[in-house]
Amino acid sequence: MLPVGTMEDEEGPEYGKPDFVLLDQLTMEDFMKNLQLRFEKGRIYTYIGEVLVSVNPYQELPLYGPEAIAKYQGRELYERPPHLYAVANAAYKAMKRRSRDTCIVISGESGAGKTEASKHIMQYIAAVTNPSQRAEVERVKDVLLKSTCVLEAFGNARTNRNHNSSRFGKYMDINFDFKGDPVGGHIHSYLLEKLLRGSEDQELQRLHLERNPAMALDSDEKSYQGVMDAMRIIGFSPEEVESAHRILAAILHLGNIEFVEAEENGPQKGGLAVADETLVGYVATLTATPRDLVLRTLLARTVASGGREVIEKSHTVAEASYARDACAKAMYQRLFEWVVDKINGIMEPRGRDPRRDGKDTVIGVLDIYGFEVFPVNRNFEQFCINYCNEKLQQLFIQLILKQEQEEYEREGIAWQTIEYFNNATIVELVEQPRRGILAVLDEACSTAGPITDRIFLQTLDTHHRHHPHYSSRQLCPTDKTMEFGRDFQIKHYAGDVTYSVEGFIDKNRDSLFQDFKRLLYNSMDPTLRAMWPDGQQDITEVTKRPLTAGTLFKNSMVALVENLASKPWLLEEPFYVRCIKPNEDKVAGRLDEAHCRHQVEYLGLLENVRVRRAGFASRQPYPRFLLRYKMTCEYTWPNHLLGSDREAVGALLEQHGLQGDVAFGHSKLFIRSPRTLVTLEQSRARLI
Ligand code: ADP
Ligand code: MG
Repeated sequence: MLPVGTMEDEEGPEYGKPDFVLLDQLTMEDFMKNLQLRFEKGRIYTYIGEVLVSVNPYQELPLYGPEAIAKYQGRELYERPPHLYAVANAAYKAMKRRSRDTCIVISGESGAGKTEASKHIMQYIAAVTNPSQRAEVERVKDVLLKSTCVLEAFGNARTNRNHNSSRFGKYMDINFDFKGDPVGGHIHSYLLEKLLRGSEDQELQRLHLERNPAMALDSDEKSYQGVMDAMRIIGFSPEEVESAHRILAAILHLGNIEFVEAEENGPQKGGLAVADETLVGYVATLTATPRDLVLRTLLARTVASGGREVIEKSHTVAEASYARDACAKAMYQRLFEWVVDKINGIMEPRGRDPRRDGKDTVIGVLDIYGFEVFPVNRNFEQFCINYCNEKLQQLFIQLILKQEQEEYEREGIAWQTIEYFNNATIVELVEQPRRGILAVLDEACSTAGPITDRIFLQTLDTHHRHHPHYSSRQLCPTDKTMEFGRDFQIKHYAGDVTYSVEGFIDKNRDSLFQDFKRLLYNSMDPTLRAMWPDGQQDITEVTKRPLTAGTLFKNSMVALVENLASKPWLLEEPFYVRCIKPNEDKVAGRLDEAHCRHQVEYLGLLENVRVRRAGFASRQPYPRFLLRYKMTCEYTWPNHLLGSDREAVGALLEQHGLQGDVAFGHSKLFIRSPRTLVTLEQSRARLI
């Protein structure tokens, strides 16, 4: 267990550096040592300048709540130990002060603490706003706080025991009125769930429901009731909550249905049968559809055979299993989307008139799934996730560079060029029309007749044999980390990842037979029915090929990036929270060095420091600089009598003989080499 860190504690040297910028040398070793030292002392938060690095403690630490909030309220980032509240406060202040929209970007792998972080941010905002207790604002705050947990619950519904599963990206806007009080919000979800479900069918199996299956998700999930209550409080009707509950249960039962070849002389006369028909009964009851129709839909599909003729075509065991999974996934996805839409409807700013009320300002919170670089072969889902991260990385690099430039201009400092790796070619490799990996995959999926993963791989090889970021065993026969005819490798900005093409085509096609859509559209449950408007179509009318999973994902990524880039504020001042998962076992207080180092690498934290601090190792507002170093100089300790903080900083640096290594901006001091910081840190350490 970690020792309990309290807010009162000074950030003395025994706690390591509260900001990685203060490290003597910026090597991975030093970075990790500092992270470890702080973690051991219960300091889970550390800055990189204004970026907050957070390590999941996997235990309750007394760092949160009203008292802690009060300590950060209205303060500057550097006045208190690093904390999420400080970031929330800084974002809120930035928004209010300048009446400009702002954004907090939270990233990290699953289980790193992103959702917890967004909850703490929301708690902070809820606590410091609406001093006059306006009822409408209180309602909005309540919905904001509860919506995260409802979405998480749905995100995790299928794997209640596996916290490792909230794999959707989420972007949430909170609207504020001119007083700075929240008056509404909107959630965009970038759902990976449907994609990811495919890889976790075992999870579904594990949730095998033994007791009273009609009430699948009760008793042993106490939190489940909490979620249902939260839904009601947010504004879902009791019928809707009940429907959601039943749909989840139906999905779980559906996933447990297995198929067998029927006996030659049995009632089915050969062909396909369901192993346990009671499950079919549960699904029918829970979805309010006729039992025999559920059974028929599971065993066969209707196909149009010219004109208005339709014939029924029996599935093989493999086809039926595939269709069952596709249906379970689609039901899940539609349910999730319905929940999001519903919450958005409830959070929509009400009765606001821009002429009377002024324009709302927005704080956006982006909670996005992190990069996946692991030694095992990765599949289509990881490919999508990593593509998403490339895309975001590209945007953020551009933003950071632009920010740098603007800051130099603002501060009256000469512009310095920054070297950085531009990952545009990798993004292109994936999304380029016609030749890009997704386009080639779509092409493969639309080909009539049998097409194998292997042919898909060969096509990729042909198109990209000279691409600097693409490789395969065929192209690089000596590389034994890849298998012939199965793997390809992308050199991502965060590292090389080998993907196995097995299942790419299937998962991309992700087709759901029209029969399932029609079945659910004809449900007696109005909530379920409303989720399946496309079930209205008859099989003879369904001509258009549905978009593939990869294309849908790409479109949602493009929309996300456009949405982010369209906001002028993003070019202004985004705040970052980088979450790190300390170990794979969810153990309190244990930080696995290799595991964390890996994340530090792919989160690009060193790169982050480097890009942000290229040209200048550090920049600090004059008061902040004085606060930390004034004790090292007789002119500034305890308080200086000079005309301005800037002059006082000048005097201090001169006494240390360091004035040659800095530039004086209008409000900040820019320090070129880390050496200077080290010298200052050392003389400070000698005095405390
Ligand atoms: P993510 O959203 O990144 O997948 P979560 O925020 O859901 O991860 O965190 C996973 C689990 O880790 C949480 O359920 C909680 O038990 C624990 N956790 C995360 N952050 C904290 C924190 N700041 N303090 C205590 N426990 C935490
Ligand atoms: Mg999460």
